[in-house]
This record gives sequence, C-alpha cells and structure tokens, in this order.
Amino acid sequence: MGKHASPSFICATRPGICNNCPAAPAKNNCLHKNNCPGVDLCGGGISPDLPGSPGGCATIPPFHNERCPRLKVIPRDQHCISRKNISPNALKVMARLRSQDFQAYLVGGAVRDLLLGGHPKDFDVATDATPEEVHGLFRNSRIIGRRFRIVHVRFGREIIEVTTFRGHHDADGEGEAHRGESGVLLRDNVYGTLEEDAVRRDLTINALYYSSGDFAVHDQVGGLADLQARLVRIIGDPHERYREDPVRMLRVVRFAAKLGFRIEQHTAAAIKEAAGLLDAIPAARLFDEILKLFLAGHGAATLKLLRRHHLLEHLFPEAEHHMARDVRAAELMAAAMASTDRRVAEDRPVTPAFILAALLWPAASLRAEQLRDRGEPPVPAMHSAAQQVIAEACRRVAIPKRFSQPMREIWELQHRLENPRGKRAAELPEQRRFRAAYDFLLLREAAGEETGGVGEWWTRFQELDPGARVEEVAAQEPAGGKRSRRGGRRRRSR
Ligand code: ATP
Ligand code: MG
Repeated sequence: MGKHASPSFICATRPGICNNCPAAPAKNNCLHKNNCPGVDLCGGGISPDLPGSPGGCATIPPFHNERCPRLKVIPRDQHCISRKNISPNALKVMARLRSQDFQAYLVGGAVRDLLLGGHPKDFDVATDATPEEVHGLFRNSRIIGRRFRIVHVRFGREIIEVTTFRGHHDADGEGEAHRGESGVLLRDNVYGTLEEDAVRRDLTINALYYSSGDFAVHDQVGGLADLQARLVRIIGDPHERYREDPVRMLRVVRFAAKLGFRIEQHTAAAIKEAAGLLDAIPAARLFDEILKLFLAGHGAATLKLLRRHHLLEHLFPEAEHHMARDVRAAELMAAAMASTDRRVAEDRPVTPAFILAALLWPAASLRAEQLRDRGEPPVPAMHSAAQQVIAEACRRVAIPKRFSQPMREIWELQHRLENPRGKRAAELPEQRRFRAAYDFLLLREAAGEETGGVGEWWTRFQELDPGARVEEVAAQEPAGGKRSRRGGRRRRSR
C-alpha cells in the first residue's frame, strides 16, 4: 500500500529508509521514503518554480519518522519562515492574543506560501480565544459570518482574519454545528483545540500552523510532506469532506492550478462522484468562488482542471456544453483566460465581466442567431438572447448586475463592430465599453470566428483622426445604402 493510501488519516512520514537522499543529515531522518517511489522529496526542498518563489525553503529539514506521531513540530531554525516576511499587523494581533494568555498561530495560505518562498496575499490567524474574546481585545474588529463566525481585525486596508479553533461536532447536529439533509455543514461553530482545528481544514498544505510564540511550524496532517511532494490532498475521507462542503472540490482545483501541484488520487477520484453536490451551493457563494478561480492569475490552468474534473458543467452548464462541441468556444475561453492571467501578472485591472462574457458568448450568440432566424432584427435579438442566457446562468452562479450589465454591452456592441456604418460607428471608439468590446472581437477572431476581418479594420480606424474616421465609415457605405458584409455569413456556433 502506498504511503498515502488511507484516505481517512494522512500520515506525514512512515518508517522507511531513504536510499537516495544524500541531503538528509541522517538516513532514518529522511522524508524521502523508499516506499514513495518517484517522488523526489529531499535535497531540493520545495520546487523553485512556484509562482513568486525565489526558491522557497532550500530544504525543509526532515522530521523524525519513527511512528508517525500526529503532531510534528519543526523548530524555528529548521524552516525558512522569517518574521520579516509576515505582515506586522498579523504579528501585532498574535502578540496581543498571547499577552492575554491565548494561543495564536499564523495558519492557512500564509504559512503555505511562506514555506514556498512566495508572498502571501493575506494573513489568517487561528486562536483558542472565542470570537467574542477576540472582538473584546481589538477595538478595530468585528465579528462576521454565520456559517463560520470569524473576526476581522482591520488595519487601514489590511484585514487580519482571526478564527477560533474549530472542534469536532456530533453527527446528529447537536450544539453549534448544523447539517443540511445532504450532510452539508450549514454552520460550524463548535470550538476546539489546534489538533482538532487542523483536521477540520480542507487541504493538508493549508493546515500548517506557525507559532508566534516559539516560531515553530506545527504539522499534524502531513502538510509539509505534501508541500514537498507538490500534492494537493484533502484531509480525511474525501467523500465525507466534499459532502460537508462541496466547495472544497473547487478549492482543490484552484490550489492545484495556482501552485502547479498534482491532485492526490483519492482526492481527485472522489470529485467524480461528488461533483453534482455543487448544484446545492447557494449561487452567491459560487460567484465568490468563481472570482477566486478565474481572476487570481491562474485562470487558464484552473479552467482546464475544472473541465477535466467535470466541475465546469455544474457551474456553467451551457458553457461546458458549447466548449465540448465547438473548438472555437473552447479556444475563445482559453484566450480570454490567458489574457486575464497576463493582466494579473502585469498588475493591470481585470474584470469578471470579460471572462464571463467569453464563457457565455457561444450560448448568447447562438440564441441571438435563432431569434434572428425567426425574424427578429439583430440588435433586439442579441438583447433578448443576452437577457435569457444571463438569467439562466444566474440560477447557478449569481452574477451581480454590475458585471452582467457590461457583459451585455460587450455582446451588444459586437454587432455594431461587425457593421461599422455612419456617424455612430465613427463615434464608437469614444464609448465607455468600446475597448472591452474591441478586445473581445479580437479574441473571437483569434479563436477562429469569422467576422470578415473587421478587427483589423477597427485597429486601423482607431489610429485615424476624427475627420478621417468620418470619411472611412462613409467609404464603408456601398452605393444604395446597404453595406455588404466583408465575409460570408458568420458560421453558426453549435
Ligand atoms: P489564499 O488566501 O491564498 O487563497 P488560503 O489557503 O489562505 O488561500 P482562504 O480561503 O483564505 O484560503 O482560507 C484560509 C484557510 O481556511 C485555508 O487555508 C483552510 O485552512 C481553511 N479553509 C478555507 N475554506 C475552507 C473549507 N471550505 N473547508 C475547510 N477549511 C477551509
Ligand atoms: Mg487566505
């Protein structure tokens, strides 16, 4: 049986001697187990090619492997986390908690990313103080959440999220943990110890604790080993953990894409059966997750994994339907994601409207074409199609109006961009949504959609001065008033 074969309890290390690990100070101290073939865990430490990583910890020193004691403590001189890379506000919060005899640990993504040599985007703190006790210690704080009550401590623009250790809860839903009929955890406000808290977290790599008291890292679920093996692994029985909270499947995919990690086989296999549970997740929560999935700079890789694990069909069924059947739909989406990822890398602003416009374009344009075939003029046809497609998508993923409105505008402008006529066309580049619509048109062309080469025309047109623009659109108007399309009829996206 493989080292991680048991899905219900993950053990960081196993007795075994590494025959292949000169970097380990003592053979019987090595993480690189000879019963875990093919995984190079030692010597090089954590992969140097992780996002934002100049190399991470050169080596995470191995910890002893005698009997798999659950809790491993890696002292300060044996890991690479330095206080100077931790937000001073997070340090302040932890110091305050400790001064009142509470425990305080940095936890979650911050510890994971620090160990990988990256820059955490936020800092979460875990403590044994209750939310009320935390709130009592910080005037600049407030208690939020119902499913999970947590405390936000605000320092200007930075928020330090403080969570109280969660404990085990009874299956019968007694106390402060409440389950829905399907086993979904509706509330989880049972408090416990660090050890209990660790196994309530989602992934092993997200369940590492950095103590602000002795600066040691605490690991009891094999998170360090998985970090080194570049594996995303759910803690505990994946079926049970996905049932409790199906959004964990999206988190598995998101972290695998973000970190370039593999998904451990049991973690991946259970997604196949559990994917449908996403249908019961409130549409507003799914929208929040969509933002993290698509706008965090790894959208292209995330989309691939969402499709590979049959999750996209539970988020945007229409989009999956078209992408599975029409290579241009898949290419449009890949191009939109790649362009958004590039913008994130360059620190330029991004909007979910653009991504969502690409995702739902094949459905919207097909619907518009059907309406046109029934005699509706193009502009109202696209207007109604947009309305229908967005309303349908919102049943699964609640797209707020501030994003669905620009999506419609991008779509509706496509017809005007494809048919540049008259004074209104000359004025189009001044329109607020022109740039996004023009970029969208170029993406459609790059994905193989036939528009008669109008993208290039608009590229040149924008360089003209206003007078020349009026002449150019006049030249577009053939004698008799009706302009012929540059290309043939657009191919139907099936
Ligand atoms: P990042 O902030 O970089 O996206 P993160 O790991 O910090 O990554 P958060 O969403 O900030 O992710 O959550 C903080 C921590 O809370 C996680 O690391 C994980 O330990 C825990 N967590 C978050 N969501 C869940 C969940 N659905 N089930 C169990 N634990 C969770
Ligand atoms: Mg976080």
